[in-house]
Amino acid sequence: MNRIAQFFQNLLFPYDKCPICEEFTDGLCASCKKKLVFLKEEGLLEMKKGMSILAYNEEGKALLMAYKKQGSFYAGNDMVNLLLSAQRDFISSFQLITFAPSSYRSAQNLGFDHGAFMAERLSKEIGVPWRALFRPSKTEQKKLDMESRKDNADQIKLRHDSMEHLKGKRVLIVDDVFTTGSTVGKCVKLLENQGIQPYFLTVFKLI
Ligand SMILES: [Zn+2]
Repeated sequence: MNRIAQFFQNLLFPYDKCPICEEFTDGLCASCKKKLVFLKEEGLLEMKKGMSILAYNEEGKALLMAYKKQGSFYAGNDMVNLLLSAQRDFISSFQLITFAPSSYRSAQNLGFDHGAFMAERLSKEIGVPWRALFRPSKTEQKKLDMESRKDNADQIKLRHDSMEHLKGKRVLIVDDVFTTGSTVGKCVKLLENQGIQPYFLTVFKLI
């Protein structure tokens, strides 16, 4: 995390308003939190390789946009806390935390990588190490239709040629929202090909 960026962030977004309704509160307010819909246990598994915690409803979208569009670290922290409140033990059961890659452009626009931020925060909270394992494709996924999303996700690569040291290990891939699943699907496949046991966890799921 860039400390200077964080300093200015803190000045611009003091932690006294809800990222969803912008009421003056200490972070996510109680009434907005109530409107977030936790997905039921049986709805969680996706290809048996991962899960999502919350429905991507209006409030979920507002929270994610506060994070990704305005770059509010507080909204990012709220999302990490929601993951932990739902699945702390599960997240702690991994040997490494990584994140699905953002495109170069979206990371540049934001000034930080939102996936890396979540992986780092989770790692600090539960004491499991984190590391970037994927190299992104150059195009922003959100600008593409379903078919092109898959082709674009196919361009995601591993950062390192040898993943020998991670063979047989349980690795958690975090991401913000599950839409078509092509990004996390590709990440899962890349790690499986290396003999790693990957699992993904997204904050939201488009349903
Ligand atoms: Zn609120």
